[in-house]
Amino acid sequence: NTTQQQRPFNRSRVYMADLESALHYSLRVEIAALPTISGAALTALKQYVSVLAKYFPGRPLVQKLLRSVDSWLAEREEPELSSRALQDMLDNANKIPDAVLPDGVRWVGCQGTQAHFRGYPCSVWTLFHVLTVQAIKTPGADPLQVLEALRAYVHNFFGCRSCASHFEFMAQENMDHVKTLSTAALWLWSRHNRVNNRLAGALSEDPHFPKVQWPSPDLCPSCHGVKRNGEHTWVQDEVLLFLKEHFSSERILQDYLE
Ligand code: FAD
Repeated sequence: NTTQQQRPFNRSRVYMADLESALHYSLRVEIAALPTISGAALTALKQYVSVLAKYFPGRPLVQKLLRSVDSWLAEREEPELSSRALQDMLDNANKIPDAVLPDGVRWVGCQGTQAHFRGYPCSVWTLFHVLTVQAIKTPGADPLQVLEALRAYVHNFFGCRSCASHFEFMAQENMDHVKTLSTAALWLWSRHNRVNNRLAGALSEDPHFPKVQWPSPDLCPSCHGVKRNGEHTWVQDEVLLFLKEHFSSERILQDYLE
């Protein structure tokens, strides 16, 4: 039962509708699956919302909601938080004017050709690439904060548990070698490519969106260097320039938003 793509989109662009859908799904579905949030999960939630409040390049009403949830979480000193209380905050039970987190998912750049392809995991990658690039532009940003938030989010909440253990393995390997904001963006890019490499040809791959080493030469010719000993090479400075452009807030398309 094939669901054809319903929303025409440009494959070489990032869409705010995917990013807002990632926020909705992570905060109202994945995290809400736990009736109470405590210990490492509560710390992970606080880290996640804190990076969103700092770096999410969203519409003013969404930014306002994220900042109010962040301040509310930062003030919570209890060891446990009920999911209900969090959901009330996300639904703006305090009636803060002009603060909204849109409800529901609307995949655009992350649409799959069938319902079980792409969607949420695609939007998680996209969201965190955007956040690493936003951090580069923020004076005084901590180089590891976005990556640590992703790592803790995936470890504590991400529904795909084998994805979480693979990602944790990569993080343990050398994430602590990251010392600058630029290397944080490059670290995430290269780890995402490692995942693409592992998944190429797997059953989970949408045949219309094959897993490739990204960005492909048609997206960024200068990112690809000369072969050494028959091996493909990347020109990392060019990749960084490309990431900063591709995931920049100014280029995010606002189509299909409610
Ligand atoms: P995605 O890989 O989700 O990529 C989304 C978009 O990002 C692409 O369309 C492209 O525009 C862009 N992109 C692609 N590569 C890069 C890159 N290197 N750098 C920057 N942007 C890029 N699935 C598994 O089956 N096993 C796993 O172990 C696994 N681990 C995962 C770990 C994490 C942290 C996450 C978020 C997801 C994981 N997944 C895993 C899901 C998988 O990686 C894909 O997200 C999913 O299969 C959907 O693929 P997609 O075609 O939408 O492209």
